[in-house]
Amino acid sequence: MSRIFDAIVIGAGQAGPPLAGRLTAAGMSVAVIERKLFGGTCVNTGCMPTKTLVASAYAAHLARRGSEFGVLLDAPPRIDMVRVKARADAVSASARAGVEGGLRAMKGCTVIQGHASFVTHETIAVGDERLTAPRIFINVGGRAVVPELPGIRSVAYLTNTTVLALDRVPEHLVVIGGSYVGLEFAQMFRRFGAAVTVVEMGSRLIHREDEDVSQAIREILEAEGIAVRTGAECITLAPHAKGVTVGVACREGDPAIVGSDVLLAVGRRPNTDDLGLDRAGVTTDSRGYIQVDDGLLTNVPGIWALGDCNGRGAFTHTAYNDFQIVAANLLDGESRRVSDRVLGYALYIDPPLGRVGMTDAEARAGGRKLLAGKRPMTRVARAIEKGETQGFIKITVDAESKQILGAAILGTGGDEAIHGILDIVNTGVPYTVLQHAMPIHPTVSELIPTVLGELQPLD
Ligand SMILES: Cc1cc2nc3c(=O)[nH]c(=O)nc-3n(C[C@H](O)[C@H](O)[C@H](O)COP(=O)(O)OP(=O)(O)OC[C@H]3O[C@@H](n4cnc5c(N)ncnc54)[C@H](O)[C@@H]3O)c2cc1C
Repeated sequence: MSRIFDAIVIGAGQAGPPLAGRLTAAGMSVAVIERKLFGGTCVNTGCMPTKTLVASAYAAHLARRGSEFGVLLDAPPRIDMVRVKARADAVSASARAGVEGGLRAMKGCTVIQGHASFVTHETIAVGDERLTAPRIFINVGGRAVVPELPGIRSVAYLTNTTVLALDRVPEHLVVIGGSYVGLEFAQMFRRFGAAVTVVEMGSRLIHREDEDVSQAIREILEAEGIAVRTGAECITLAPHAKGVTVGVACREGDPAIVGSDVLLAVGRRPNTDDLGLDRAGVTTDSRGYIQVDDGLLTNVPGIWALGDCNGRGAFTHTAYNDFQIVAANLLDGESRRVSDRVLGYALYIDPPLGRVGMTDAEARAGGRKLLAGKRPMTRVARAIEKGETQGFIKITVDAESKQILGAAILGTGGDEAIHGILDIVNTGVPYTVLQHAMPIHPTVSELIPTVLGELQPLD
C-alpha cells in the first residue's frame, strides 16, 4: 500500500510529537512512525525513569541520615526494589501513554507503528507500506554503545535500558564508564544498598568538566562508599562464579574486580545505521550522526534531522529546542539557528551539578582575559540548613565584555539555581546586572550575586 502525506516524522521521541502538533495545526497531513515505545529514550529508558529512581535513592539516603535531623527511625530503612521499580515504571508508562494518546487524538496525524527506512529521498518504507512526503523529519535518537571489549560476548551485561528491568539490588554493581549516565546509576544503586565500583578509562571522572568539578564529584561518591577506578585503559570481561570479572590490569592497582553485575555506560550512538540514509543521499559523519546545517536541514532539501541523531545535542531539551527551531523557521517565517543557543545541562547525582556554557579550560583556550569567582557550599546558608554542604558555585566571566562565559553549581539545588545564570547568559546583558539583583533568602541562588561581587583574575 502506498500513501501520500504533507510530512513524515520518523521517531516519536522529544522532537517528533510536538513537531507533528505544529505541522497538523498548520493544516498538513502528517504520518508519525514509531518502531518501539512512544516518548523515546527520555520517557522510557532515560531521564524519566532515572530521575524517578534517583528520587527513591535520595529518600533512602535521607532516611539513613534521619538521626542527624532529629528524626529517629526504629530500624534502618530497607529497600523494596520491586516497589522502587514499579514507581519508575508507572511514571514512564503515564508519560508514554500521554505521548501516544496525544498523537492518536491529533487531527491530521496518522500514527504508524514499525521500523521506518528510506526508499528514496521522499519515500519511506514501513513493512510493506510506502509513504511519500515532500518533507521528512528524522527524530530517531540513539542507543547505548556496546564497546568491543575483550570477553564482552562471554558475559551478561546491563545497559541503561536493561538495568531498568532489575527488580533486585545487585550485590556488587561494576559500572564501566564514569560519565553522566554511569555516575547517576552508580550513586543510586549504592543508595539502594549495592556495593558499587566505577571503572573509568580516562584519568578522571566526567573528563569533559573542569578538574575541580571532577575531583569534587569523585569525593562525593567516595564518601558514600563507591569505589572509583580511573585510568583503567585495558578493560576485559570474563564470566565468574559470582557474576563477572572485570579486568582492569594496566599498570597499577588490583588487576581485577569481581562484580555480581556489570553496567556498560560508555556513551551513545545514533540510530542511523538501519535507516537507509544512503538511498536518500543523506550524509552522516564518521560516527553516524546526520550532518545538518544551522537550521537542522540535512544535505538533501526537504529532509531535516532533529534530536540526538544530529550530534548537535544529547539532551531532551536540545531535542525539544531543535523542534522549536525547525517549526519557527518552517511555519513562522523566522530564521532561528542552533548556533545561537546557550547550552545548559545537569548531572543528577546528589547533590546535582548544574552547568552553563564553557568550562574554565574552554574559556582559557579562547585567549580572553578572565575573571572567576568560587564559593564552597559550606558557606551557603541554605545548604547548611539542609545539611547538604558538598560542592561549590563557580562562575567565569570575560573581563572585557563582562559576559558570563560559564558556570557550575555543584550542590543542593544546583540543577535549579543554575537557571538564574542560564537566563542572564541568554539575555546577553553584563554580569553586573545579576550582581546587582536582589535575590531571595535563603536560597542557593542568593549567593550568585555575592560570587559575582568577588571575582578575581583567573590565570
Ligand atoms: C540513562 C539516561 C538518562 C538521561 N537523562 C537525561 C536527563 O536527565 N536530561 C536530559 O536532558 N537528557 C537525558 N538523557 C538524554 C535524553 O534521553 C535524550 O537526549 C533524548 O531522549 C533525545 O531525544 P530524541 O528525540 O532525539 O530521541 P529519542 O528520545 O531517543 O527518540 C527516538 C525515537 O525514534 C524511534 N526510532 C528510532 N529509529 C526508528 C526507525 N527507524 N523507525 C521508527 N522509529 C524509530 C525510537 O524508537 C525512539 O522512540 C538521558 C539519556 C539516558 C540514556
